[in-house]
Amino acid sequence: EKPFKVTVIGSGNWGTTIAKVVAENCKGYPEVFAPIVQMWVFEEEINGEKLTEIINTRHQNVKYLPGITLPDNLVANPDLIDSVKDVDIIVFNIPHQFLPRICSQLKGHVDSHVRAISCLKGFEVGAKGVQLLSSYITEELGIQCGALSGANIATEVAQEHWSETTVAYHIPKDFRGEGKDVDHKVLKALFHRPYFHVSVIEDVAGISICGALKNVVALGCGFVEGLGWGNNASAAIQRVGLGEIIRFGQMFFPESREETYYQESAGVADLITTCAGGRNVKVARLMATSGKDAWECEKELLNGQSAQGLITCKEVHEWLETCGSVEDFPLFEAVYQIVYNNYPMKNLPDMIEELDLHE
Ligand code: NAD
Ligand code: 13P
Repeated sequence: EKPFKVTVIGSGNWGTTIAKVVAENCKGYPEVFAPIVQMWVFEEEINGEKLTEIINTRHQNVKYLPGITLPDNLVANPDLIDSVKDVDIIVFNIPHQFLPRICSQLKGHVDSHVRAISCLKGFEVGAKGVQLLSSYITEELGIQCGALSGANIATEVAQEHWSETTVAYHIPKDFRGEGKDVDHKVLKALFHRPYFHVSVIEDVAGISICGALKNVVALGCGFVEGLGWGNNASAAIQRVGLGEIIRFGQMFFPESREETYYQESAGVADLITTCAGGRNVKVARLMATSGKDAWECEKELLNGQSAQGLITCKEVHEWLETCGSVEDFPLFEAVYQIVYNNYPMKNLPDMIEELDLHE
């Protein structure tokens, strides 16, 4: 049977890490996967040299994942359309603000037998309301798309320190390709490593909601940490945040399953790791200690990477306003108001207070 040809779209901090994981497995299972994995790279020059050339000759993404050696069967390609030629599986892994443009460029170049996994954490909010990014990819490109999400700070995974993740995928009935369709076994073979343990489930909505919204909660944790309030305050934000994440899922994606929030790596475990050591926390902490705005802090700290919570909190606010539900999500709203309208962070406890003492 023809092996599956795999391409990773994206080469940031997480994009490059997942490309490393996937390339290791494609090399390790030649009967299942084609050995060469293409990674689409948004081309840029670093000290006069093209990033794709650096990756293909020195096998390092010196800008977004420095210090990590990449497998030599991982090939950086600056041409998006060429990178998906004859492909069977596409792994999407870019900051979600770039997804609409990527999809519009890919339209007409991806066959309907192709299957996809989105490693993005965020939502698409537009005329159709709030949409999972996997559903957006399915709608734009006409291909089945699942998701990968977990407690996965990229550099720790890249250094091969043990972690867990969740892959969610629903097998469609309409396979019209040659050979066999992608199933849960194929996905496990593609992502599981000795240092990266994969659980494959069906709940795409559940893992995607957790992945998107924990970035907003992490900003709240960064604010209280930056104010010097310590662990109790951070735990309080995470408690309220988990409640709002689950409420959001139940209100807008009733197909999501409650056990995903508590039992999967993509659920509470990702909330904990992101709130402990993620980029969103770092940006929010610097906002608190320096008084600078979010975008300045992101630029100063992240060298071209992005803190997705800054975008997601605005998208969530817009969606909640559209459906008149802002008051059901006081923490999400407080984070939005602090980032976009300079509300004082020290008022966070009052902004999320559930008891109305005047009643
Ligand atoms: P990143 O934050 O490192 O972003 C940098 C990437 O964006 C680079 O590849 C850069 O080339 C690209 N880029 C910049 N401008 C662009 C443009 N105009 N068009 C297309 N690409 C452009 O990215 P990342 O860490 O790989 O994150 C990808 C997704 O993975 C996000 O949704 C993130 O939330 C999620 N995620 C990240 C981590 C992590 O620890 N980094 C872990 C899990 C999930
Ligand atoms: P940050 O984007 O806040 O670094 O979070 C990374 C992540 O998603 C960990 O699972």
